[in-house]
Amino acid sequence: MNALIDKLHNICKEYPLKEKILIVDTHSIGQEIKQAYVNEYGHVIQLKTNTVHNLAVDVMNQKSNHVLPLIEQSIGTQFIYHILKDLNENKELSYFLDLEVTPSFSSSIHQSISQLRLAGYTKDTLKKEAFISSEKADDFQRIMNRYEEALRQYQFMDKAHLFREASNLARPQNNAVFIMQSNLTLTQLSHDFLQQFLSKNVFKLPLPAVYGVSIPEHEEKDLRSIEWSAPTAFSYLYHVEELPKKPNITLFTAKTEEVEIKQVLQQIKQSEAALDDTVIFYPKAEPYITTIYQLSEKYQIPVTFEDGLSILYSQPGRLVAGLIKWLKEDYNVRTFIEMMNEGLIELPEEAPSKSKISKYLRDAKVGWSQSRYSRQLEQLKIQMQQKQIKAENEELQEYYQKQVNDITWLKTWFQRLFRSLPIVGSELNYQDILQGISTMVKKHAKTTSILDELAKAELIEEMEAIFPYANETLRPFEAFQKVRELLFMLRVHKSGPKPGYLHVGSYYNGIYHNRKNVFIVGLDNHAFPGESNEDPLILDKERKQLNGFMPILQENSTNNLFAMLQLLAQTQGNVFFSYCTFSINDNRTVNPAHIFLQGYRMITENPNADFEELAKLESPLTSPATFEAKDYWNQLLEKDANIRLEQELLNSYQNLVFGEEAEEARTEGEFTHFDGKVNIDRDLFDPRQNEKLVLSSGRLERLATCPYSYFLENILKLKPIEETEFDPYSWLDAPTRGSLLHSIFESYYKTLDGEKPTYKKHLETILTIAKKKIDEQKAIQPPPSERVLEREMNDIYQCCRIFLKEEESYSEGYQAKYFEHAFGLNGAEPATITLPAGETIQVRGIVDRVDQSNDGHFHIIDYKTGSTYNYHDKNQFRGGRQLQHFIYALAIEEHLKLEAGTVKESSYYFPSVKGLGERYVRNQDNVLRTNGLDILEKLIDVIKHGHFSMTDNADDCTFCDFKAVCRRELYPQETLKQKQMDSLAEGVQKFKGVRAYE
Ligand code: SF4
Repeated sequence: MNALIDKLHNICKEYPLKEKILIVDTHSIGQEIKQAYVNEYGHVIQLKTNTVHNLAVDVMNQKSNHVLPLIEQSIGTQFIYHILKDLNENKELSYFLDLEVTPSFSSSIHQSISQLRLAGYTKDTLKKEAFISSEKADDFQRIMNRYEEALRQYQFMDKAHLFREASNLARPQNNAVFIMQSNLTLTQLSHDFLQQFLSKNVFKLPLPAVYGVSIPEHEEKDLRSIEWSAPTAFSYLYHVEELPKKPNITLFTAKTEEVEIKQVLQQIKQSEAALDDTVIFYPKAEPYITTIYQLSEKYQIPVTFEDGLSILYSQPGRLVAGLIKWLKEDYNVRTFIEMMNEGLIELPEEAPSKSKISKYLRDAKVGWSQSRYSRQLEQLKIQMQQKQIKAENEELQEYYQKQVNDITWLKTWFQRLFRSLPIVGSELNYQDILQGISTMVKKHAKTTSILDELAKAELIEEMEAIFPYANETLRPFEAFQKVRELLFMLRVHKSGPKPGYLHVGSYYNGIYHNRKNVFIVGLDNHAFPGESNEDPLILDKERKQLNGFMPILQENSTNNLFAMLQLLAQTQGNVFFSYCTFSINDNRTVNPAHIFLQGYRMITENPNADFEELAKLESPLTSPATFEAKDYWNQLLEKDANIRLEQELLNSYQNLVFGEEAEEARTEGEFTHFDGKVNIDRDLFDPRQNEKLVLSSGRLERLATCPYSYFLENILKLKPIEETEFDPYSWLDAPTRGSLLHSIFESYYKTLDGEKPTYKKHLETILTIAKKKIDEQKAIQPPPSERVLEREMNDIYQCCRIFLKEEESYSEGYQAKYFEHAFGLNGAEPATITLPAGETIQVRGIVDRVDQSNDGHFHIIDYKTGSTYNYHDKNQFRGGRQLQHFIYALAIEEHLKLEAGTVKESSYYFPSVKGLGERYVRNQDNVLRTNGLDILEKLIDVIKHGHFSMTDNADDCTFCDFKAVCRRELYPQETLKQKQMDSLAEGVQKFKGVRAYE
């Protein structure tokens, strides 16, 4: 900036005591120019900087008695949204008639109206013939008319109004000296105002001449014009043939943006350049801002961001994103837990721990919906109170009391929280949502940094500004979209360059930067010079006819190139160009921008160098410098994927040693500790030794299906996280639907009082019972919609019909005797089964029904409401996977004190639409009983030996919850087979014995 500073110095010398006003696009530019001047001359006398906008505001404040507040962009967009909706509903639009009025469309129209007004047009003066169609011109005029009315009604002024009024009031300021930056950004109205305001004493600061590119053309009297100074080396970037002296320029590339930025940091480190003498410019903000922000947070590098940071980097911003998701999913518990675990919600000191809150919400099966939080937590509280009453000792009582207190607290806390949040229905009030989110941010947003504090204040301010104009009913999707557009575009912590800080910003605003080391990153051909797309609302053709300094969008890329050249030509130090050669998102190679090639031509002093030559530049995939452990590992991986870890390293990473050991053991043919071999405590886990261990048939079947899953679930006590989810397409899950049908069948039979079921006579009875039970279930668990309820009700009624029809014919030979008979549960004694070796085990369960045949023997019925897929007449045990029929037969005989052999049949009965009343009967003869007892003994021996091998059939894994833990699929088939044949592992052999029973 030598020429510029010299000129400024001459002006200061000529007018040492006069007030000098430097007019610039932004205050940040003013600061940079002043700093450059101070660096050169040590001090500035009477030099103030100001923007055209602020000068107009000053004039208004000084000369007008009634200054209206300036309208915020968000409020202006909201006005336009209402105007468009209204015009659309009343069919008053013609050109925009079929367009859906969305928040983003309103925002674009607001921008167009603002541009038209700043170009000097009002609804009365709009140059309608400039538009390609008269309908479009009419629509713009109508919208403008309503917008101007809204400004008057709500007592706001927009920028156009400000400049127009200020122009009327402004008088030439003859006692000050005005100095203007070249190429000032002006609209027609701000230009008119400035012309009224400026005195004759006006100077312009020069920019270095540049060659080989298009430059903005303005007449000399146009205040946007440029004064040129002598060229510098970079002025010749597009005229390399005439390059007088090679500037300091370095080029580099990388395969990821992160590696590119790490190279920047490495260059800064190596050159020992001061951070506040360095600036990073980008043509496209993302992903560079994110990458630089993350690295600067990690390594505590002080950085200022010209464009600020997305509100979503802050905790309050992420809380708002989480809240929108929470509302959208009708208060899904999983989303609440995610927000809480991410630390976005400030919980009061007396709150239970986060893990306890998650557990209570899951145990209560809250799932979703405001009302369920209260109701389900209340139910959980009652369950805990009942457990407390039954608790055997004081310690246990205290434990349950603590849980009751926690749950009560949680229920009250949610009730208070929901007071400010809207109930999600088919329509939502926009104001209510904003109010709710704002209250949540005020009361519960966690803040741990300045960024968080700023974001919190900004979010609240933005929402409060819009409240008075947001009383409207919207569809949920539309409402959430509006909140997102209002809040997620906010950027916080914007800052100009500061002493001690590395500065990061867009090259477009960087022409007057004042730093010696300039990094321009992201110079690929997509990002720079950028595309010159037309604005579909006001075409360039229309803009040219309208004139009024409206920007011509097709000139964007030439303007961008000019801005970049100006920036470079002003730079007096080292320049670095870089770009990322690969796009991970699109999985494709990325080509450099043309300016990058020009940089290469400049360095090589070869004006004919081409892209092919440029492609030879090295493009590292990993950071050549080690900033963090990840870089070290990536470098090793890149060099040799199969590198052996050295012992020295392994000493520091004990878990790697364990991992290697496990991996090796899993590849051996032997059954090892890494495949389910455990030193078991028989006193605890063997039910023959531990009488308190009462097993259910389900648990024994699990052991027979896959001993390894039994080990994970019952020895290690692993449990999958069970989420209760809202499903718009289904009401009852399979277990709830099953219990409902069970209780209908039971209630129906109890009404018979010994009478035989008759389809015609009893259909009404069973359907009435079903209706009553469904209504009860509806009260506990509301269905997602009437349509879903109707579908599932019809299915239940159909099951009842199938059941009754089937019972009518079946009951000719049988009489139902016992219903829901429990043993080892609900206070009933467990049943005892004696194994072949004479030892006993205790079992528990609930038998759906016990019938007695006409000839006096007993028949056990187990209702199944799912598919018959795994049931066949000839497979009685399915390799141990179906044991219940046999266990229940023994248990009932023992429990009802019946003679051995009295239960002759045990059947799986499918009174459902899928099962069509099918019965799979297992005759409990001597052979079946002998085989069943042998299976049970072998299974218990599996526990005794602690040999919990994995299933020999991958089909068993299909619906297993532990797939991710056991990773059976990673074993080579052959190795798995060898392990399952290990003759030295007795438990494994026993398991093989179980499988032999079909
Ligand atoms: S995934 Fe398969 S092998 Fe693993 S625990 Fe489950 S059933 Fe057993």
